[in-house]
Amino acid sequence: MVSKRIEVYGRVQSVGFRPYVYNLAKKFCIKGYVKNKTSYVEIVANGDSKDIENFLEELKKIPYPAKIDKLLIENFDAKFDDFFILESEESQPQFLYIPAEIKTCLECLKELFDQHNRRYLYPFINCTHCGPRFTIIKNLPYDRINTTMDVFIMCKKCESEYEEPTNRRFHAQPNSCYECGPNIELRNNKLEVIFSKAKNPADVEKILEFVVKEILYGKIFAIKSYGGYHLVCDATNDNVVLRLRKSKYREYKPFAMMADSIETIKKYCYVSSYEEKVLSSSESPIVLLLKKEENEISEYVAP
Ligand SMILES: [Zn+2]
Ligand SMILES: [Zn+2]
Repeated sequence: MVSKRIEVYGRVQSVGFRPYVYNLAKKFCIKGYVKNKTSYVEIVANGDSKDIENFLEELKKIPYPAKIDKLLIENFDAKFDDFFILESEESQPQFLYIPAEIKTCLECLKELFDQHNRRYLYPFINCTHCGPRFTIIKNLPYDRINTTMDVFIMCKKCESEYEEPTNRRFHAQPNSCYECGPNIELRNNKLEVIFSKAKNPADVEKILEFVVKEILYGKIFAIKSYGGYHLVCDATNDNVVLRLRKSKYREYKPFAMMADSIETIKKYCYVSSYEEKVLSSSESPIVLLLKKEENEISEYVAP
């Protein structure tokens, strides 16, 4: 039996790292614990030296979005009879790692459009592989209590997902649903409520259908999510794009466009294989593309 204490540095908080370590420890019969510190994750591992070796080898292969920059390993004297995920502990940070948002993952998208799923059309769906991070963090370490989600108390179902190490939402800090989380509501430009907070998929559909119709009539909407606002309008409508420019005091700087798929983007822009890869990545950033001539997109989107 040997015992090691490991400090793991890199993108290892808020990305499902602790559950990964937990399941790995179970696989190799390792006892000990994993714990978030402010600037790293601490693992203490008791086990057979061969098992510890294999455990460390697989630890290094952790899948995206987690990424290990550095491992500090030392011998340690401790005995445990199981493997635990311990409460986070604050420590003086050597550096702060603040994770970025991650695009909604395929599994969440599948649930989002599955009528039998309890999060069908739930706009704030997320899991440890995706969802908001940076915009909701008030403090580190990254635990729900240190995020803007702390005001939403998880319902029984969400809590059981959050507590279950084999669940995709184990320690997913923004975990929520219709019953316990934030939802959309619609207000006019005097902030009067038009549709009150959605409580189910039918409410969400009602609000979205209304908004889509109004956008096509030339209205501008401010869509608030976890973080800031998106101002949205119909990019094919010269008048409304110009009105948005005027009200934003933004004469020339290009606006970003949103599309539902790469196929839609290709209708309007040239997309190289590299650009396609970047657009489809988990970061899903805004990408500058070359516009095709013959195009119904308003010239004022990028004058
Ligand atoms: Zn997800
Ligand atoms: Zn819930």
